[in-house]
Amino acid sequence: MEDILDGLNDAQREAVTTTEGYVRVVAGAGSGKTRALTRRFAYLVNDLGIMPGNILCATFTNKAAQEMRRRIRELTGDRDTGYVNTFHGLCVGILQEDGHSLGYPRNMLVLDNSDIDQMLAGIYEERDLTLRQMTFSQARDMIEMRKCITEPDYYLDMVTLPVEELKKAYDAASKPDDIIFRGYLYQERRCFGVDYNDLIFLTLYMFRRFPEIRLKWQKRLEYVMVDEFQDIDGPQHELMTQLCGYHRNLFVVGDPDQTIYTWRGADVRFLMDFPQDFPGTRTVMMTTNYRSTPQILDVANSLISKNRHRIAKDLVPVLPDGAPVTWNHAKDADSEAAQIAASIGALHGSGAAFRDIAVLYRAHYVTRAVEEALRNAKIPYVIYSGVQFFDRAEVKDALAYLRLVAEHDDLSFERVVNRPKRNMGRKRMAFLRAYADSHGCTLFEALERTVDDAVFKGTKARPFLSMVENMSLEYAHRPVSEALAAVLDASGYEDMLRTEGSQDRLDNLAELKQSAYDWEVDSGEETTMEDYLSHVALFSNQDTADSGDKVRLMTVHAAKGLEFAHVFLCGMNEGIFPSRKIRTAEQMEEERRLAFVAMTRARLGLHISEAEGFTSPDSSVRYPSRFLLDVRPGLLQFENRPDDTLLARTRDHIRLTQRWTESSSASFAVGDRVAHPVFGPGTVTEIDTQAGAYVIAFDDMPTPRAIAFRVKLQRADG
Ligand code: ATP
Ligand code: MG
Repeated sequence: MEDILDGLNDAQREAVTTTEGYVRVVAGAGSGKTRALTRRFAYLVNDLGIMPGNILCATFTNKAAQEMRRRIRELTGDRDTGYVNTFHGLCVGILQEDGHSLGYPRNMLVLDNSDIDQMLAGIYEERDLTLRQMTFSQARDMIEMRKCITEPDYYLDMVTLPVEELKKAYDAASKPDDIIFRGYLYQERRCFGVDYNDLIFLTLYMFRRFPEIRLKWQKRLEYVMVDEFQDIDGPQHELMTQLCGYHRNLFVVGDPDQTIYTWRGADVRFLMDFPQDFPGTRTVMMTTNYRSTPQILDVANSLISKNRHRIAKDLVPVLPDGAPVTWNHAKDADSEAAQIAASIGALHGSGAAFRDIAVLYRAHYVTRAVEEALRNAKIPYVIYSGVQFFDRAEVKDALAYLRLVAEHDDLSFERVVNRPKRNMGRKRMAFLRAYADSHGCTLFEALERTVDDAVFKGTKARPFLSMVENMSLEYAHRPVSEALAAVLDASGYEDMLRTEGSQDRLDNLAELKQSAYDWEVDSGEETTMEDYLSHVALFSNQDTADSGDKVRLMTVHAAKGLEFAHVFLCGMNEGIFPSRKIRTAEQMEEERRLAFVAMTRARLGLHISEAEGFTSPDSSVRYPSRFLLDVRPGLLQFENRPDDTLLARTRDHIRLTQRWTESSSASFAVGDRVAHPVFGPGTVTEIDTQAGAYVIAFDDMPTPRAIAFRVKLQRADG
């Protein structure tokens, strides 16, 4: 086993060995923060004898958690990696153990978007709502908004009420918004479903209501560590603060230049103000960059230096000189893609593995052209987003079968009862639903009780029922992978795919069975079907298909924290990156940080490309991204140069939109005292960057008003 402190610089050693108290590492991209964090875990275990189960290490993506578990396992030689998990994964663990205090069973269902949509579909049908009134995605946003921001108290009150009360509230609702919100709360409760927001809110709520449970977790987690702390949001911060409240050992690492989730509520102030929040904090800085060549680093540093709201810090590279960073201008998106494919082919020809090459982009729609070009060039690739593995219909169906066997829940029942066809169409489902509603039972129970009813004549309801019942008995204590294989067979599901000739889908199911098996091997003996189901429910796009020598395609957000030998950053055009949605100067700075994150993923080669032409969704002229012009001239080497007129027009375009974003940016913060030329003094209570307005509670007005940023406000004294 390698010595834990080998291959660490002084600052990293300090970070690793300062185990007690509050420690904050603020350092740039590729400076070895994550390495220090991983080593620290191993140091605690190997050198100090701390039990892995008493260490919490929170990450932002499953992929990061997996990677960290792998590294820790290598270093400690121990299977047990404690609580190395995402915030959501951690909350699942906590709620599985203690959620019963809130009336939640151990086998609650973690809901993903398609589960939520399925519930919404039921509500819409029952209450005659249409998608024209509100799409599912708008409905999900609305629900999130009401839970997290506008009605958290109502929502948490509902959590403790019996399900009948939730139904009453739902039945009594008349406005579409209320129907959907309350209907959703009711549906969630009926199957003990929890969505991603619930996970964290319910955990915090439980800690508030039951201090003894909180204390138990506080005592258990002797050391708490958080990666990518610059992107932590309020509830997550609250959770970490509480969890370290007993032993008071909190270690966080972050880079303010990589804050890319403020649009989801992340707040870099938690990193900046950490020493105020946790007195006695020791701050460690790291200034060496181990990841990228000087060429790549120069470009990235030159870009980020254009942000006004930042603390300047420079990274010193250790790698020797490499190839220049290139800027490739193409006539249209297809030739841009073809050139990327050709360059990747060439890299591969000169010895680079496909898996060491990544294509990064701002938004998914950019990938179509790239995918096509890669396919034409016969270059294997894997997309880390788009349709996610665990979101594919056949994978969801398979898991629904498994869940049905484990839990007999409605959501799964509805999903698979008629797949393959069992003649259980709308009419018969409506019958079951009505029965279940009036008898207060699940759909599955409803079918058990009514299967001999005349309505089910000519259906395969009876064999379906017996199949599920038998499986439940037989597989309760068998490995999940076996149960999965058995249910896919017994249900006729795989047969159906065979008849349809869906080889792709069958392959995906084979992959799923393999991954279930791997998971069992990985997690040791005492695993249950429920564990597996909550494990996969937390999976998302970035986490799939990690194996194989394939080029990786992903959004910049998904690439956070990762590194690749060669990075192709494509679609660097105004309107794509920066995105069309940018409204304010703050958002533009966040967008620039995102570009910085993209560039700093590259170790040896960075290739940036953009295309003019008419393929962007708004079919207007495409200008090269301002982020390319931000880079000091001379640092980027042209492969194809855009002509001078295009560059001149790009500059004009930037100047125009810049003025607009400047004037629409906020210059006051929440809590600031301001004076309005007409309304007089007041306090900023909210900043609506989307609308470009402050919400201000004026001293002399009964209700707050939204005031556009462009109106001149004076700073007033408290
Ligand atoms: P990011 O901000 O992008 O998350 P980071 O600060 O977490 O970056 P790491 O991913 O930990 O950086 O490290 C970047 C690369 O540098 C990795 O390949 C890592 O193995 C390597 N590295 C880190 N520290 C050292 C060191 N002391 N000596 C040699 N290589 C190192
Ligand atoms: Mg990192």
